[in-house]
Amino acid sequence: MAGIYIHIPFCRQACHYCDFHFSTNLSKQEEMVDAISWEIRDRRDYLHEDVETIYFGGGTPSLLSGLQLKKLFDTINQNFNISGKAEITLEANPEDLTEEYSNTLLDSGINRLSIGIQTFDEQKLKWMNRVHTADEAIQGYENARATGFSNISLDLIYAIPDHDREEWKKDLASINSLNPEHISLYGLTIEEKTVFRKWEKENKLIQVPEDAAAEQYLYAIDFLKAQGYNQYEVSNFGREGYHSRHNHAYWAGVPYLGVGPGAHSFDGQNTRSFNVRNNARYMKAINESLEHVEHEALSDIQRINERILTGLRTKKGVDLNQIASLADHRLEELHSDFLNEMERKNMIERVDEFLRLKPHGFLVADEIALRLFFSDE
Ligand code: SF4
Repeated sequence: MAGIYIHIPFCRQACHYCDFHFSTNLSKQEEMVDAISWEIRDRRDYLHEDVETIYFGGGTPSLLSGLQLKKLFDTINQNFNISGKAEITLEANPEDLTEEYSNTLLDSGINRLSIGIQTFDEQKLKWMNRVHTADEAIQGYENARATGFSNISLDLIYAIPDHDREEWKKDLASINSLNPEHISLYGLTIEEKTVFRKWEKENKLIQVPEDAAAEQYLYAIDFLKAQGYNQYEVSNFGREGYHSRHNHAYWAGVPYLGVGPGAHSFDGQNTRSFNVRNNARYMKAINESLEHVEHEALSDIQRINERILTGLRTKKGVDLNQIASLADHRLEELHSDFLNEMERKNMIERVDEFLRLKPHGFLVADEIALRLFFSDE
């Protein structure tokens, strides 16, 4: 089993909170598709197994034309074995999802959409500099459904400043009324080099206090559970049979190839590689046959710590026996005092041979993981 990730680094305009890699100069899109196609061919020996998941992320992959998608799919199909049952996801901005474009996506082979709704609050959409209105978001979703997409994920953002608990409840009720197969929730974080960071420094933006953000998140967990969505990871909720296979593959340490600027790859053993995170430099490197990938060999301890980090973020939890087979010590013995404290605080539980976070623990998953890491010394 293997996966392919394709990074499409263009957006119509920059959302004020976003620090992903993208450019708003769309004039280079065709050239970029050619460069990514070249990289797909060049790295055809990276994966040795059938590809079970393909993910078009960004940026805004729904800016790709039908012909550009075809070029990428043709190149992938000529160079890799794609399973007949592959999950093929494309991240779409709702304003792109006309019926005609949805048909193009479906015909090209995309069988799962991930749509960035973020909120149904019109003013907040403008404030975040999203391109679409709430009505356009709903229309885009309905167009995709009418076209025949039967596996759709919607993204929502919580902890938006001046968007209180009642407004958050309305957002959840609205998303539930659309009945998607999958929902991803992200807490708004203020990242460096974003407009929101600038506003924060100028005291024009005040972040939602941690306890209020936690309350919104915990409310969402209960609400979505009652509506039949299983939380299978910190941010991800799906109906039975609709968990993201691509996400699961990442967490399971399956090999994947990432192409496009800023994409990274994992060989399934002990090497990660990172593509240059700059559109112009990426295309120049491809065009002039220069190196555009950096490699990092993971130590045994780094691999164990990655298992802990990704395991803790999932509902399944950390497989203690697997960690024991990789390490010199058992995790639960090494950190017994800390784990007892976390259990007393209702953050963590041990079920059979798995260590699992409880809802309050999910709020601080990464901090808990850091405390459980093994040391190289
Ligand atoms: S559309 Fe997505 S990738 Fe582009 S700026 Fe907005 S959040 Fe970031």
